[in-house]
Amino acid sequence: MNNKYKYPNISIRRSILKGKCPRCGIGSLYRKFIILKDCCDNCKLTNSSIDPGDGASFFVILIAGVFIVGGALLLEVFVKPSYYIHAIIWFPLCFFLPLMILRQLKSALIFREYSIKKDFINSEEG
Ligand SMILES: [Zn+2]
Repeated sequence: MNNKYKYPNISIRRSILKGKCPRCGIGSLYRKFIILKDCCDNCKLTNSSIDPGDGASFFVILIAGVFIVGGALLLEVFVKPSYYIHAIIWFPLCFFLPLMILRQLKSALIFREYSIKKDFINSEEG
């Protein structure tokens, strides 16, 4: 059977937002919050060939840094709150914002890498 018909195109948005497998769209990519599984439970796609490494972390640092530092500067320039207000707003955001976007960015990089290598990966795994 041709792999093109065995693994139909799936929704990019669903795969990225829910952390689903880029090949079948059913199995989860993650064992815990951001730890990649070794392979998909449904289609047995091995994630060793599509691991994005630290790429997602770089983009998370870039995006969160621009948002948090820019927001803190704008707040200081226009509102001039006390330092306690800055601490209450920005310290929790420094912790939660990267956690909120890391999984989606990692899924996006995995999906992108899979879409580039899918013909090779699918022919290799049969
Ligand atoms: Zn799968």
